[in-house]
Amino acid sequence: MSSIADNIGSVTRRIQKATLKAGRDPDSVRLLAVSKTRPPEDLRAAFEAGQQAFGENYLQEALDKIGALDDLDGIEWHFIGPIQSNKTRQIAEAFAWVHSVDRLKIARRLSEQRPESLPALNICLQVNINNEDSKSGCTLDELPELVSAISDLPNISLRGLMAIPDPDQQESELRLSFRKLAGTLKHLKQDHPDAGPLDTLSMGMSDDLELAIAEGATWVRVGTALFGARAKQQSLS
Ligand SMILES: *Cc1c(COP(=O)(O)O)cnc(C)c1O
Repeated sequence: MSSIADNIGSVTRRIQKATLKAGRDPDSVRLLAVSKTRPPEDLRAAFEAGQQAFGENYLQEALDKIGALDDLDGIEWHFIGPIQSNKTRQIAEAFAWVHSVDRLKIARRLSEQRPESLPALNICLQVNINNEDSKSGCTLDELPELVSAISDLPNISLRGLMAIPDPDQQESELRLSFRKLAGTLKHLKQDHPDAGPLDTLSMGMSDDLELAIAEGATWVRVGTALFGARAKQQSLS
């Protein structure tokens, strides 16, 4: 069995290779280690091997790990799971990024509840790119209005878009989904130049990060390829 440090090395090489192949700046893609269901020791091992950013899906589990790892200087926490509106305060207080904002109510609350002592909360809007039945993600049609409303919120930095395309698609369809998200971000940036940096595409996971990087991903969210297969879970969105 390979170690977490070895896995970080091989995923980092995959990212570098794909970035080079796409003719992109080597520093333009960052690795988010998706650590849901993993014990704090696994995250500590990854951090010691140089991994800085960790993505968590379940709030209570995340808060426990944030507490257990608060001695790790510079560790960066990203929330990537579905958000209930009664949980926004803890998210606003404990995370640097939220990738899974999909409605105005959540963005408003995160902005109101973001502590003044912290920098603006980085958010991505999660888009239901394939119009699946899944409840997570706004539709492409809802985006323009959402973006203009969010641009007025003081404690939020609107960084870009996130998607989890339907994994059962053919490679060519998957690639088109990533391309569609990239095109959408480009248009939003043109139409809403003051809405925020809009410099971020959070897309690509263990099995498809190369395709996502070819289409412009700036965060790839990788779990299995770093930490191994997860035990079966109740309900993953
Ligand atoms: C679990 C998860 C990932 C990581 O998926 P892997 O296939 O294990 O790399 C990425 N993004 C989100 C939103 C997830 O829930």
